Amino acid sequence: MRNTISFDLDDTLIGCDGPVEPLGMLGKILKAERLRLGTRNLFRELRSQSFSVGIYTSSYRPHSQIKNTFRCHGLKLDRIVSGPENEVAIRGTRLSKRPSAFGFEVHVDDAPIGSESDYQSTVIVIEKNDPEWDKGVLMKLQSLTEQVPEFADADRVS
Ligand SMILES: [Mg+2]
Repeated sequence: MRNTISFDLDDTLIGCDGPVEPLGMLGKILKAERLRLGTRNLFRELRSQSFSVGIYTSSYRPHSQIKNTFRCHGLKLDRIVSGPENEVAIRGTRLSKRPSAFGFEVHVDDAPIGSESDYQSTVIVIEKNDPEWDKGVLMKLQSLTEQVPEFADADRVS
């Protein structure tokens, strides 16, 4: 795995109706959006595992707004993809998103990205109201990395 992961925003990290991350005065003044509780720890854990972490939303929020929201929570993003770029990437496909077009190997979303799959990337679907969603993402990533040695072994045998 190249360790590149993207997260959807709406109903995945934002607007999930459950508990949210604390936000300081600056974040309130800058009107940062509230992030789902668990986002900070998950992103930090992913960083410690050398993941490149990005946002991939089909919404039309300006990149600067997305960047600010995460900065107000003490989080840096490696890449942001939003509506305009997504429109180009999915043209001619039946996908709602195409993470591989932007180098994301794994994408986390509240919905599958289409009836056809983007076979070059893995989509982890999480429930909007799952309080253990962050642990679910880490477990799924763990099982994906464990699959890699199996493929390597198969290559050696043949
Ligand atoms: Mg969504």
